[in-house]
Parts: sequence; C-alpha cells; structure tokens
Amino acid sequence: MNRPHLSPRIEPAELAWNDGVPESIRFGDVYFSRDNGLEETRHVFLGHNQLPERFSEVPEGGSFVIAENGFGTGLNFLAAWQAWQSQAPTHAATLHFVSVERFPLTREDLTRALALWPELKALADELLQHYPPLVHGVHRLVLNGGRVRLTLFFGDINDAWQSLDFKADAWFLDGFAPSCNPDMWLENTINQVRSHSKPGTTLATFTSVGRIRRALIEVGFRMEKTSGYGRKREMLKGILEAKDPLRPQSPDTIAIIGAGIAGCSLARNLADRGYPVVLIDSSSPGAGASGNLQGALYVKLGVEFNDQTELALTSLTFAQHYYSKWGDQYWHPTGLLQLAHSPQEADRQARFLQRNDYPEDILYPVNRELAGRLSGVPTQSGGLWFPRSGWLEPGNLCRELAEHPLITTQFDMSVESLKACSGKWRICAQEGATITADRVAICAGHASPELIPTERRFRLKAIRGQVTHLPQSTLINPKAVICGNRYLNPALDDIAVTGATFDLHDNNPSITAESHNENIHEISSMLPSLFSASIGEVQNEDLDGRVAFRCTTHDYQPAAGPVFKTAMSGLDGLYLLTGLGSKGLTYAPLLAEYLADQLTGQPACLPWNLVRRLEPQRLHQTDVAIS
Ligand code: SAM
Repeated sequence: MNRPHLSPRIEPAELAWNDGVPESIRFGDVYFSRDNGLEETRHVFLGHNQLPERFSEVPEGGSFVIAENGFGTGLNFLAAWQAWQSQAPTHAATLHFVSVERFPLTREDLTRALALWPELKALADELLQHYPPLVHGVHRLVLNGGRVRLTLFFGDINDAWQSLDFKADAWFLDGFAPSCNPDMWLENTINQVRSHSKPGTTLATFTSVGRIRRALIEVGFRMEKTSGYGRKREMLKGILEAKDPLRPQSPDTIAIIGAGIAGCSLARNLADRGYPVVLIDSSSPGAGASGNLQGALYVKLGVEFNDQTELALTSLTFAQHYYSKWGDQYWHPTGLLQLAHSPQEADRQARFLQRNDYPEDILYPVNRELAGRLSGVPTQSGGLWFPRSGWLEPGNLCRELAEHPLITTQFDMSVESLKACSGKWRICAQEGATITADRVAICAGHASPELIPTERRFRLKAIRGQVTHLPQSTLINPKAVICGNRYLNPALDDIAVTGATFDLHDNNPSITAESHNENIHEISSMLPSLFSASIGEVQNEDLDGRVAFRCTTHDYQPAAGPVFKTAMSGLDGLYLLTGLGSKGLTYAPLLAEYLADQLTGQPACLPWNLVRRLEPQRLHQTDVAIS
C-alpha cells in the first residue's frame, strides 16, 4: 500500500547559537552540554553502556548495534565511532548506529556544529561527505571502509521504530529534556525501545525523571540512578536482564549465483563484513546485462512520492556514494540530464515539479539553454538535471568487485539445479560438479526462475536490449549523460554507447542492423543536432554494439529478500535479488546492502514499506506444490 503523498523534502532544524553552542529554537533546549558536550557523551552514553570494553568482544564477522533517539549534530555518533576505531577488534566487524531525526540539521549547520570538536575532524569530514540530502526516509551511510554503518531515519521517532528492523545492543536515549519534548518520551516510544532490545541490551540517558525510570522498569529493564555529567547530579542507566544471553552465531557458508552487478555487489558487501562467500557464474563477472561498456546511473522519479519513488530515490543517492570510491576509475560523475523530450514527458516533468520539492543536490529543472550548456549537446527542450549522477563502466566494476580474499569464485560453472538437503543447499552444475552452502542468493537475472526449486511460476521476464557503439567522430560528444527515449553517454575510448532497445518477445542474442537503426533513429529524433554528416557514411552493419537480456518483473519493481516467506520445510535460506530491469546499476548497491543486512542478521537499511515492496513472494504465480 502506498503512503499518501508526502513531499520528499524534510523540514530542517532551526538553530540559535549561544556562546557557540547550538540550541533548538523549536524545543528550547541545547543539543549537548554547555560544559563539554564530548565529555558528556563519553560519560553518559559510552561509559554507562560500557562501550569501549564491549566493542573489543565483537567476534569476527559480528556487529555491535547502537540505537539512538535523536541524531541532532551527530556528536554521539562520532564519539562512538572514535571509540570503535580505538577499541574494536582488528578482524572484520561492523559498528551499526541506528538513529532518528525529525528535524535534521542542514549541512551548513552540521559543519558549524562539528567544527567545535577538532579531535573528531577526520570523522566529521567523512560524515559530512556522506550526509544525505534532507529528504524523508531511511539513509544508510557506509563509512570507515564499511566498518561503520549509520542508518539514519529522517522522520518521526514513532514511524522510525515501527518501520525499522533491528535489535540494539545499547541505547542512547537522547531526546531533548522530557519537559521540552514529551513526544520523544511517550509510552509507545519506551515500548519500541523494548521491542528493539534483546537479553543483555543496555541503555543510558541523561535524564533521571521518575516517570521515565518507572516506564523502563515496567517494560523489563533493571534501572539504576547514577551520577550525571557536570552540573547534572543524576542520570539513568539500565539493562534488559538476561538469564541466558544470546550467543553470537558464527558466519555460515553463503553461495551467490550470478556475477552481474547484483551478485558482485552482494558478494563484495558480505566479504567486506567478514563473511566468506562463493560467487558462481556460468561465464565471468559482468558477462550478462551488466557487461556493457557504459551504463547510466539513472532513475525516473514518480510524480507521486510513493513507495516506488522512495525506493528509486534512496537507491540513487546510495549508489552515488557507493560508486564514488571508483571516481578515478569506473565511475564518471558527469551529471545527468533527463530531457523533456516529448510533450508528454514535458507535461510529466511539469506535474512532477509542481507536486514535489527536491533538494538541489538531487535534481533541479533546467531550461533549454542550460540543458544544452550542461550536456554539451544542443537540445530542443529543457529537462531535469541530476548533478551527482553520471555513468559507469559496469563490466570493469563487476570484475573488480569480485576480487576479495573472502570471495571464492567459481566461474564457467553452469548451475543446473538447487537441492535442499539436511538444512543445506546443494548446488549442482551441468558438468556434474556440486557445491554445498548453508544459504544461497540467486542473482542470476532472467535465468533466476529456472533455478528456484519449485513448480511455482515466477512473474519474471527477459527483455532483449541492444546498445549501439557510436564512433565519437560521428557526433558532438556529450559532456554529461543525456536520457530520454534512449540514453547517450560521453565517449569512452572514442565510443559513445547509446541504447537500449526494449524488445519484448524477442530472444535473438545476436546484434541486428534493425536494432542499430532503431537506436540511431530514436537518439537523433531526441537530439536532432547530435550527428555530423559523417554518420551517413557509416553503414549500420559496420556498427558495433552488444545484446543483453534484462530481467524484469510484472510490476517493474525489483525483487530482493527470501524466496519463501514462511519457513517452509527445508526451503529457507534461499534468497533472490533480481528484476532490476534497466535500472540495475542504480538499484544493485542498495539492494545488495539490504540483502547483506538480512544474511548477516544486522539492522535493515530499508523501512518496512520498502521491504514489502521488494518481497519476492509477490512474483509467485500459482500455488502449485513444491517439486
Ligand atoms: N544525539 C544528538 C547529538 O549527538 O547531537 C543530540 C540530540 S538532541 C538532544 C535531540 C534530537 O531529537 C534533536 O535533534 C531533535 O530534532 C530530535 N527530535 C525531537 N523530537 C523528535 C521526534 N519526535 N522524532 C525524531 N526526532 C526528534
């Protein structure tokens, strides 16, 4: 079910600066102590959750989860991150920090607030570099080379804890004083704190208000008053009593079938978290739909800000950060123009702009003149400009992602079937080889349905797409990606890729002159002054290109998650990540992050409304019994 229309932009905090310390005008309270905010954080939140000590006990591949009420200036987060850096084990382990903020600071205010802590400067700079645009929803920031993952919910606390799936090891209860902000301390919130806790979870809060202490005792925490920081005499700390604390589980074996952008991103994500994986492909990384020379980082955001739009938007902003580490290699953040290439698209864009208010770091409208200047090609109309988007070399990127000491590759292995056997999965290949794994993620694009061991049909289809390699000498080389009925990328090694055709019911794997014709016809009607006269001399038969098959779902939304919802006998441990259509480069990084969260039992980077949108069960066509 889609949520009612909600503008993507979220209202920022309004600050007053008194003696250099930020105060919320709305709540009439300070973000941190006037005495010394950093020391207060260390005393109240780190010390009383025994944090540095507990960090050092996190096992290999494990994680420690801190949840916080009120992100504010991010001071608590940075202090926890700094402690993690000095106390965490040297093996692969992840600090998760889950926080909520109803009125986020603008980047400018955040920069000013964090400048107060010179010793946190390096971490603050990294946070600022990844700080999300001020739009509603969940933002996952992958920091410190993946050793720190921040899940930032921009919205109200009640929505946040209802829609996020995680269990905290420690809580920082840091809303403003209950008298200034009672909404943050309602019974409902306290109940949510309990449901996101587990035996042994601790909490700390600067407040010592009796009502809050009693409410926390009521839901099962053993509470204690202790000495506060500075002028505050008292504060509270607590623990959810555990007769038998949960034992961390050792990572099991995970196999991933399919080494396209989805499978490679997932394999790398798990390996970075310390999980060994086997990556299997019938060919090599990026050999299928992810293997084009160039691909645009592109989404079409809906006129309604609904779940679909939210998923596309979060995927886009996540992917922009994700690819930035290959900024001098395979990622080219040139900007991207979504051209109003037809009267219908111009009308759609007009309605889109009227209904929605997007921050300019995501997109803004441009007129014809500016569109031409930014893209480097004269256009017939304006459009939407995505300043942080661009294009990728997806094949090269897939190959690089697959290289990691914890990724064992099994290429040239054609998987024929998957068999559940004694709680494990046996992966059987054509050549008679088998691999056994505890869990399997199928990321095999349009070949995925054949691998799912059930007679149920899955509503996935393959759609042929041919791209055309245009010689740079035949055209005005664009400075940025231009999208409309076709996309066009700035040339790489004298070739600019345009495409792709969208050929339903066509399974021809060979390049055809008709498809080149169609691509050239579409791109030249979108950009009539693109080609020089020399294009006339190039025979379509002489043009190069590539054919691949996208995997699309019946509702054109991706699928990510367990294949079967209920733990059906012997069929759990099977996951699907596919159906990314022609937006694979945009969706893959975030959906791989989400699936890696599930496979590792770590906090989810997506809220429930988006998790539901992605559920593979919606693709089941019939209820025929399992084979
Ligand atoms: N932990 C922060 C830090 O390290 O800077 C300070 C947090 S400040 C004391 C409390 C925060 O809670 C404010 O940023 C405020 O905007 C936020 N807040 C207040 N009411 C909220 C609500 N209903 N939902 C989510 N956040 C809320």
